[in-house]
Amino acid sequence: MKELKELVRPNIWALEPYSSARDEYKGVEATVFLDANESPYNGPINRYPDPLQNEVKELLAPVKNVRVEQLFLGNGSDEAIDLVYRCFCEPRVDNVVAIAPTYGMYKVCADINEVEYRTVLLDENFQFSADALLAAADRLTKVMWLCSPNNPTGNRLNTKEIVSLLTRFQGIVVVDEAYIDFSSEPSFSQVLDKFPNLIVLQTFSKAWASAGMRLGIAMASPEIIGIFNKVKYPYNVNLLTQAQAKEILSKRLDVERWVRLILEERGRLMKAFNDLPICLKVYPTDSNFFLARMTDANAIYKYLVGKGIIVRNRSKIQLCNSCLRVTIGTKAENTALLSALRMYK
Ligand SMILES: *Cc1c(COP(=O)(O)O)cnc(C)c1O
Repeated sequence: MKELKELVRPNIWALEPYSSARDEYKGVEATVFLDANESPYNGPINRYPDPLQNEVKELLAPVKNVRVEQLFLGNGSDEAIDLVYRCFCEPRVDNVVAIAPTYGMYKVCADINEVEYRTVLLDENFQFSADALLAAADRLTKVMWLCSPNNPTGNRLNTKEIVSLLTRFQGIVVVDEAYIDFSSEPSFSQVLDKFPNLIVLQTFSKAWASAGMRLGIAMASPEIIGIFNKVKYPYNVNLLTQAQAKEILSKRLDVERWVRLILEERGRLMKAFNDLPICLKVYPTDSNFFLARMTDANAIYKYLVGKGIIVRNRSKIQLCNSCLRVTIGTKAENTALLSALRMYK
């Protein structure tokens, strides 16, 4: 990896961050807080939240088996995705390379930040090669985007190729693991100390069943986390979200049970799809959804909408011709989907 200073935008490297009242005073003994122009009424929400979410991170670090200094929390993973551009990519100068197809926000944030977004198509098994990504890069490539398990294809990317990219690419490699809890493979967060150029993204939105809470996780070297903390809004994770995060972290057994139920239903639903005459192929998945190639995805999508059942029509995405993406619901929801599809003609 290049020196971090060579990868970070010069204005960000030199940035003097905003210092809040909460940053300047951090003692625990005080009982009278007259420093932040807050109201004394309507507690506890009258107070600004902890800018660095330390209590949440203390609970989260052992769950993820990383150190608190390796954790960044944001308003969904989307905040971390945007921060990657704002910290590393000089608008109209630098570029990034991503696999395709993948999660749409990497490109949207590139467009917003005026950063050239280069893509390398996955192969027919939805796998990538480090060689191909490196071939698409030049000296102005700051970031490579990987998503594993990948959305919308559902599969994990080849571990050897990810390691190869991490070893050979001199810039930042992001591995988005939004669906890692549905996979049997370990997280790349466990090799952060080996790869200083690695950023792993996870989220509370999927297995943790808290999409409405808006809490995303980035894990990286303490140096990269320090850059993110400098650039983020001072109070980027609100008080209600921090309280709710502590609550869901105390319910880990429920989360594990939900994941088991979803995996069980995933097996049942995929098997049933395989037996549908209108389904041509069910792709392997490590996520809480799967991709299915249908005889006529557009028509089937519209038919399901008419029945009040919404799946994701991915038929216009590269390599996903005539494919629907189906999220695993409750047993009753999945059964409703199957009954509708069995009646389709
Ligand atoms: C759903 C999803 C996310 C989650 O985004 P949040 O902003 O945390 O809700 C991130 N990455 C991928 C690939 C996803 O599919």
